[in-house]
Amino acid sequence: MSAQSKTSMNGAAHSTAQIEVRNPVSRELIGSIAICSEDEVRGAVERARGAQPAWEARGAKERAYILRAFADLLWARRTDAMRLIRQETGKNDTGAFLEVYGIVTEAYWLYHHAPRLLRSQRRPALLPFIQYAKVHFKPHGVVGCITPWNYPLYNGFTDLIPALAAGNTVVMKPSELSPFTANYIVDLLYQAGVPEDALQIVTGDGSTGAVLIDYVDYVSFTGSTATGRKVAERASKRLIQYTLELGGKDPLLILEDANVELAAAGTIRSALENCGQACVSTERVYVTEPVYDQYLQRVQHYAQQLNVSVGDGFSVDVGSMTNERELKRTEAQVEDAVVKGAKLISGGKRRPDLGPLFFAPAVLTDVTHEMDVMREETFGPIVAIMKVKDTDEAVRLANDSEYGLSGAIFTRNLTRGEEIAKMLQSGDIGVNRTYAVPGSHALPWGGRKHSGIGRRGGPEGVMRYTQPQSVLVDTMIGSVPSLTLLDSLTMNTLLALRVLRRYLPFI
Ligand code: NAD
Repeated sequence: MSAQSKTSMNGAAHSTAQIEVRNPVSRELIGSIAICSEDEVRGAVERARGAQPAWEARGAKERAYILRAFADLLWARRTDAMRLIRQETGKNDTGAFLEVYGIVTEAYWLYHHAPRLLRSQRRPALLPFIQYAKVHFKPHGVVGCITPWNYPLYNGFTDLIPALAAGNTVVMKPSELSPFTANYIVDLLYQAGVPEDALQIVTGDGSTGAVLIDYVDYVSFTGSTATGRKVAERASKRLIQYTLELGGKDPLLILEDANVELAAAGTIRSALENCGQACVSTERVYVTEPVYDQYLQRVQHYAQQLNVSVGDGFSVDVGSMTNERELKRTEAQVEDAVVKGAKLISGGKRRPDLGPLFFAPAVLTDVTHEMDVMREETFGPIVAIMKVKDTDEAVRLANDSEYGLSGAIFTRNLTRGEEIAKMLQSGDIGVNRTYAVPGSHALPWGGRKHSGIGRRGGPEGVMRYTQPQSVLVDTMIGSVPSLTLLDSLTMNTLLALRVLRRYLPFI
């Protein structure tokens, strides 16, 4: 099926306005997508709403089986999925593979854990001996998933599949830069058994995303902080719940006792993953004085070895950036830093010999918090390094940011690493490892401060898609008609319970 007809299949058939989607490396046209009209968005949500009760009624176990079948299918088709991801984003094979692997294993995690998490729970009632109570976890209804372009598979579907697991139906609005990966994956979900009305795509730009918020019952948004604010305002007007996964400015702290070799390689890997176009990439490196010189020498060593290439295979370290806007912002940050006194010790220039959006990773030293590169989100391949006196100063500077998404600490003292991690104002921290939290499906991750509201991943990432409903049943044993809440039986029982409740936790 051609890219165009696939898009049409998902609800955009009658729209006339189109957006061209181009390969960022070759500039070839991949296809065009329709900008769905408000009527089309409303229609998609109505169909999803109609399909929701039947999807919910299939039960958590059956939905979990469908997600496992989807994961098996995606794994079998990983080469096609990776090709599409690379076509739309220009990223290297490593990045595309990790997207596939991340979603496959997340679906397996949901298969194993979602049914148990969603099971109704028995809880103590007001009058335990004559009443009993249960909490049921009901889906919101129709979830709107609005997603970005940097990880068209992982960031799109890491929010979407738990919503389905919890019994919601979903209308997705993928980024206008990477809609075809989303179409492909949605097709696989259909093949695995998700009914077509239960999961639909509406294509378009920001205006389509905005309209979607006006009709759905819950919004799961991943994107920039600026857009997240607009999403929150619009959702709040309707009093619907939302989660926001937004931008980051993640710090990496290299303590006095760090394994410098691992820290240097880890810095490069984590600052340059997906060409730096990652919300959880390392953007600020604070290196304590005693290890600074040795660290810098090793970073330079690794930076020189980087394989920046248009080619295939896992030996390519850095691929193309995805859009000109981010490339220009990256160049501007490097320029601003250099003008304000930073040293550019490696890269920092475009590589037109490789493609229009290739950029040789910039390594900047002597950066300060007066520079844009240390304050604004970086969405490109920059390693920005600052020397600090000691760990205290590193912690203070790490927290001196409006963002609070992720972060990392390198130290040989694992206990101290854990203690320092708790001092950082971030949603997740890796000690001696970057990027491991988003791949650990049992762990919640997401932002503090301007990096977001709510968490994805782990039990928290499933339960956000539910509303607890408490049901209390009175057996009527000993009940007498009464016009007061405090008839004598109730009063005596409550007084006895007060004493018991002072000592017993479960009553
Ligand atoms: P973006 O905010 O420009 O767009 C994200 C999505 O929102 C797109 O689908 C877009 O069409 C849609 N959109 C735009 N305006 C809208 C509006 N007014 N109402 C509703 N939807 C609207 O972000 P982007 O450039 O696609 O992605 C990059 C950003 O995403 C970066 O800031 C990055 O840090 C962030 N991000 C965060 C996470 C995370 O988990 N915290 C993950 C990936 C990306």
